[in-house]
Amino acid sequence: MERTFILLKPDCVQRRLMGDVIGRMESKGLNFIAMKMLQITPDLAKQHYAEHVEKGWYPTLEGFITGGPVMAAVLEGLDAIRVVREMLGATNGLQASPGTIRGDYSSSRQMNLVHGSDGPEAACREISLYFSDEELCSYEPTITPWMRAADE
Ligand code: ADP
Ligand code: MG
Repeated sequence: MERTFILLKPDCVQRRLMGDVIGRMESKGLNFIAMKMLQITPDLAKQHYAEHVEKGWYPTLEGFITGGPVMAAVLEGLDAIRVVREMLGATNGLQASPGTIRGDYSSSRQMNLVHGSDGPEAACREISLYFSDEELCSYEPTITPWMRAADE
């Protein structure tokens, strides 16, 4: 089992697409083990996007990500980090493949609806940035025997 962090960005909340995104991930077999709504502060934005803070376009990203409420969540599943990234698609919605979340719902490089951790280190760092250990509610869904074979 692997854990990953997702953030339904302000455009996702404002466009009423949270239910669609959450539904896709649940249908895939990923388990939501934590979720919270919040408004990101400039300080939290700089921690979350530390790798981008020095880029010329960072100020517009910070304005966007702090511009409305977001939904932060932790997902658990087999290969969850890679699976979620592939479900999101390429960063730019105009280049993301049809069938991916960004490919189906976004026509923007910035307003691409959902963030997903890009590797194990990022997942660990991002989960602890938004959630305490006590807020993670790991559980075994009773439907698991109908989601995959016992040896998978
Ligand atoms: P990803 O979210 O696919 O990992 P990046 O890590 O490259 O993408 O960028 C982080 C986020 O910053 C993107 O999801 C997008 O919202 C925004 N972004 C990326 N490139 C630009 C850009 N050139 N101008 C403005 N915002 C951008
Ligand atoms: Mg990234």
